[in-house]
Amino acid sequence: MQYHEQFDVIVVGGGHAGTEAATAAARMGMKTMLLTHNIETLGQMSCNPAIGGIGKGHLVKEVDALGGVMAQAIDLAGIQFRTLNSSKGPAVRATRAQADRLLYKQVIRNMLENYPNLTLFQQACDDLILDGSRVCGVITQAGIRIQSKTVVLTAGTFLNGLIHIGMENYRGGRAGDPASVTLAERLRELPLRIGRLKTGTPPRIDGRSVNFSVLQQQPGDTPVPVFSFLGKAEQHPRQVPCFITHTNEQTHDVIRQNLHRSPMYAGVIEGIGPRYCPSIEDKVMRFADRSSHQIFIEPESLSSHELYPNGVSTSLPFDVQVQIIRSMKGFEQAHIVRPGYAIEYDYFDPRDLQPNMENRHLQNLFFAGQINGTTGYEEAAAQGLLAGINAALRAQDKDPWSPRRDQAYIGVMMDDLSTLGTKEPYRMFTSRAEYRLLLREDNADLRLTALGRELGLVDDVRWAHFNTKLEQIEQEQQRLRTTWVNPSSDCIAAVNALVQTPLTREHCLEELLRRPEVTYDALMQIEALGPRIPMDQAAEQVEIQVKYAGYIDRQQDEIDKQLRNENTLLPADLDYADVPGLSNEVRIKLNDARPATIGQASRISGITPAAISILLVYLKKRG
Ligand code: FAD
Repeated sequence: MQYHEQFDVIVVGGGHAGTEAATAAARMGMKTMLLTHNIETLGQMSCNPAIGGIGKGHLVKEVDALGGVMAQAIDLAGIQFRTLNSSKGPAVRATRAQADRLLYKQVIRNMLENYPNLTLFQQACDDLILDGSRVCGVITQAGIRIQSKTVVLTAGTFLNGLIHIGMENYRGGRAGDPASVTLAERLRELPLRIGRLKTGTPPRIDGRSVNFSVLQQQPGDTPVPVFSFLGKAEQHPRQVPCFITHTNEQTHDVIRQNLHRSPMYAGVIEGIGPRYCPSIEDKVMRFADRSSHQIFIEPESLSSHELYPNGVSTSLPFDVQVQIIRSMKGFEQAHIVRPGYAIEYDYFDPRDLQPNMENRHLQNLFFAGQINGTTGYEEAAAQGLLAGINAALRAQDKDPWSPRRDQAYIGVMMDDLSTLGTKEPYRMFTSRAEYRLLLREDNADLRLTALGRELGLVDDVRWAHFNTKLEQIEQEQQRLRTTWVNPSSDCIAAVNALVQTPLTREHCLEELLRRPEVTYDALMQIEALGPRIPMDQAAEQVEIQVKYAGYIDRQQDEIDKQLRNENTLLPADLDYADVPGLSNEVRIKLNDARPATIGQASRISGITPAAISILLVYLKKRG
């Protein structure tokens, strides 16, 4: 049976990758369908009720700078906001918000239902329609054939999903949802490299059974941060605290005694789990010398009693889970509402993707999110956005777009995935970005919003807000450079009270602000030197750009140098065995991978900067 309409873009899956992919394509004017198992689970958070954190917050801000939905949704559904690393440099500062899981889902659904150019359709996708190696639509569970110019697959943990609780296992995409088996089997018939990964989630606790009076409280920050560049703290719902407890020797004893009942340790689970988000049994075994681990107790919603004990993800049997939970302070009488579990699922080797997220072997088919071997809502959202953009560009026969590593964390992630692949669930860290001084949360809009406007992703409201911010920054920078204070100025006493060494000559305000002890706000409170510019984001930008100018300029020089070599072509017929000075290992790797450019060569694992220098010298000699 043929669906009554055709689409430019069909997105399969309504998780975090799917919602960004579908909305991006729709913003770009494409007739878009979001096809998903269940409309009720649009935007569902499968695991922790939180958005952001170090590296992840950076991705969310970039998605927002390009007009995406995640930051705006969490501003409407976040029940605790914090700035992590607030005492460190701006490059590693990151926003994190605790989400009201139910509200978040509701906000996303509301946004999607009202999105121009977007059609929602509840059906499982069971197959792809192929014309040779070209994908041109999907076939649903009910046999409905839907034609489209491009398809974006974002099936998350659902493909051949297998849930484990102790030695019991059953098929599922996540607790309460069916696995995607027919589609997974069909994809296994196509020329795709497929592997298995695993992830896990902790048991959820009924808050009424917890003794909060003995737990340490953790409030959010004041003033309350916001996620979206368009966000306001007044949009947030009621803010609530989190709590902290700890595992102890008793918890660890229970785990050690029951390790043989863990599907992971008994070898039942084959997939590799996220190293940076280990299960509690993994933590106890890997860090055997530690007698305690911190557990954050996070509220799941303002309208339910459920709590998420962050740090006790486990696939041990239910009776062991009860003992683990009840061994911790405040949890002596705790009631588990939902057992923890692990899930194994199929993922596709992301080295089969081009940097625009299109499959190398099947044209018009894009992959995004957990199915590319990543973990996390934010990583999924960022990939979804990029896949949605490129599916829309492909549907219009336009050139692909992908940000470079020096432009965005999204670029870092896609370059890592498509050139290096991943053997374990990939998550973002600031350390993955070599140019992290430039890739900050605070300037994500300065890096990307104008590009987003060109691509058709940024609406008039965001564009006007962005331009006001730019104007304020530029005018204020100019004013700081041309406003002078000298030892005989009327305000000299107030200025000297701010600085460590009193002024003995004339200084412009920019020079004063460069001093570590002087903040922009304090300087602007001196009546003769203010007032401060009204927009907080612009004021923050002025301060960061002045204070870190030296570092930022140096990094920009490095990027310029790197860019000059990035696109230097490596001859297709080059035999690396002939290049003197390269180690045998490097020669083999280069002969295997046959990179097209120096940039690509430099990202192959094991290819050192020294090897790149040797190659550059060789190319120069060869002429
Ligand atoms: P998902 O959010 O999984 O969304 C997939 C969507 O596709 C769903 O809406 C589904 O219904 C739909 N779908 C699937 N197949 C089909 C089909 N054939 N037809 C139609 N629709 C389909 N992340 C972390 O960062 N840390 C963690 O500790 C962590 N633990 C996790 C534990 C568990 C048990 C699970 C399930 C996930 C965990 N995650 C964790 C991962 C996090 O949930 C994902 O990274 C994120 O949700 C991925 O987003 P996605 O859009 O790729 O996929």
